[in-house]
Amino acid sequence: MVKEYKMYINGEWIQGKELFGSVNPYTQEVWARVPQATKDQVDLSIEVAREAFYTEWKHTNGKTRAELLNNLADLLDDNAQYMAELETTDNGKVIRETKNQMHFSARNYRYFAGYADKIYGELVPLDNDNLFNYTIREPIGVAVLITAWNSPMSLLSNKLAPALAAGNTVIVKPSEHASVTTLEFAKLIEKAGFPKGVFNVVTGDADVGNQLTNSDKINKISFTGGTATGQIISQNASKNLIPVTLELGGKSPNIIFEDADIERAINGAVAGIYAASGQTCIAGSRLLVQKSILDEVLTKMKNRAENIVLGDPLSLNTEMGPAANETQYNRILGMIETGKKEGAELVTGGKSAQGHGLEKGYFISPTIFSNVDNKTMTIAREEIFGPVLSIIPFEDEAQAIEIANDTMYGLGSGVWTQNINRAHRMARSIEAGTVWVNTYRSAAVGAPFGGIKKSGRGRERSWHALLDYTHIKNVMMDISDDIRDPFSIQTK
Ligand code: NDP
Repeated sequence: MVKEYKMYINGEWIQGKELFGSVNPYTQEVWARVPQATKDQVDLSIEVAREAFYTEWKHTNGKTRAELLNNLADLLDDNAQYMAELETTDNGKVIRETKNQMHFSARNYRYFAGYADKIYGELVPLDNDNLFNYTIREPIGVAVLITAWNSPMSLLSNKLAPALAAGNTVIVKPSEHASVTTLEFAKLIEKAGFPKGVFNVVTGDADVGNQLTNSDKINKISFTGGTATGQIISQNASKNLIPVTLELGGKSPNIIFEDADIERAINGAVAGIYAASGQTCIAGSRLLVQKSILDEVLTKMKNRAENIVLGDPLSLNTEMGPAANETQYNRILGMIETGKKEGAELVTGGKSAQGHGLEKGYFISPTIFSNVDNKTMTIAREEIFGPVLSIIPFEDEAQAIEIANDTMYGLGSGVWTQNINRAHRMARSIEAGTVWVNTYRSAAVGAPFGGIKKSGRGRERSWHALLDYTHIKNVMMDISDDIRDPFSIQTK
C-alpha cells in the first residue's frame, strides 16, 4: 500500500496540486506520495504563520510554550520506533541510528522547553543616572526552516526547538527526497496542542524553498543543505535583509597521531566515514595519519571496512544502508571514478556493493583511497557525502594542521592523541566549528554546533541557537522630571 500524504497548513490537512513519489532507496520502489505545494499554498503558509505570530503565539507566555514543547517531546519519544521506521524507509539510514535520532530530537525539544520561560533581557547601567535602561529579547517572527534529506527529524529539531521556544512561528520545507517524517511529525504537533498556524509544512521541490526564501514577509531563515544552495538562499535573504543560519557541507579532517590509542582511533575513523553511509555533513572524510603508523592504520581500516554489515536498513544488524537516492548514488560512484583517474590508490571498495539482499538498493562498498594528495585531488577537496575515505599521510603536528586547514570547509574535525598538550594545541589551531578529541561524531543538545568558512554561519543547539531566534529591544526611560535641551543628543 502506497501511503498518500497531505500538507499541514494552519492546522488543516491540505491536498497539493499533484503528488510526487517518494522512493525507498533499499527497494527502489515508490512507497509514499507527497504533495507538491502550489505557489498559492506557499503564500498561504506565510500568511497564516504571520497571522498566528501576531495574533497569538508571540503573546503566549514561556510556561505555555514550554508545556507544549514538553508534550511534543513525550509524543516523539512514544512514537520513536514508528517514526524511525518511516525515516529509514524514506532515506535508507539504518534504524539503529534513526531511532536514536528520534530520542535525541525529543531531548532537543525538552532542552529548549527549559529555556522557554527563561528568556529575559538585562538591566543596563548607563552614564546618566536619569536614564533607566533595560533590554527585552523578542521573537523575530516567521521562520522558514529548510532541511536536507539525510536526517529530516534531527535537523528539524535543531531549528524548530529554539524557534518555538523563543516564540516564533514556522514554515518547514523538507527535502523532496525525504518528506514523510516531517508530515507525520505534524500529527504530533497537532496532538501536542500547538495553536493553528504556529507550525506549517509545505512539501515539494526546490522551487518551494526558493519561493519561501524570496519572500519579504518572512523574518528568519534556517537552512541545512549543500553549500551551493546555501549561497543562493543567502542571496535571496540578503535582498530582504533577513537573518540566516546556514548549516552546510564539510570535508572534515580526522587526525590520528602516533601516540593515539589506535584501536579507539580506528573506531572513531569508522564512525567518521561509514556511519550513515558517509551521508553526514560532519563525515570525517579526510583521515590524516602520521607516517610512522600509516601501515598499521591502513591494514586495520581495510579490515574494518571490509567487514561492515550492509543490508536492509530496517534490520538492527545492519551497519550501513544504501545511498539515500539515485542522484546521490551516481554522484558517489562518479567521485570514486574521479579518485581513481586522479591517481589515488584504491585500498578497498570503489564500486557498488553486490550480494544477497543488496540487489535493489543503492549500495556502495565502504571505500578507502590512500596516498591522497590534499592539494590536488578532487576526492580530498570536494564533499562526497558517501562512504569514501581519503587517507592522507603527514609528518608532524605542523603539517597536520596545514593539511587540516587547507580546505574551504570548517565544520567538524577530530584529533586522536594521548598527549594532552598536543590535544589543546590542535584544538586551538584547527579551523572548524567543532573539534572532537579522542571521539568523533559525538553530539549533545547543549553543545553549540555549526560551521565556519564555507560550512556555514550561526550555531544550532545550546543557548546560542536560541539567541539566533530572538532580537534585542532596548528600552530607555528618563526617570527625572527635567526638561532637557532638545537640540543636543542626551548622553549624560
Ligand atoms: P540541498 O542543498 O540540495 O538541499 C537542501 C534543502 O534545500 C532541500 O530541502 C532542498 O529541497 C532545498 N533546496 C534546494 N534548492 C533550493 C533553493 N534554491 N532554495 C531553497 N531551498 C532549496 O542539499 P541536499 O538535500 O543534497 O543535502 C546534502 C547537503 O546537506 C550536503 O552538502 C551536506 O553536507 C549538507 N548537510 C549539512 C548539515 C549541517 O548541519 N551542516 C547536516 C546535513 C546535511 P529539495 O531536496 O526538494 O530540492
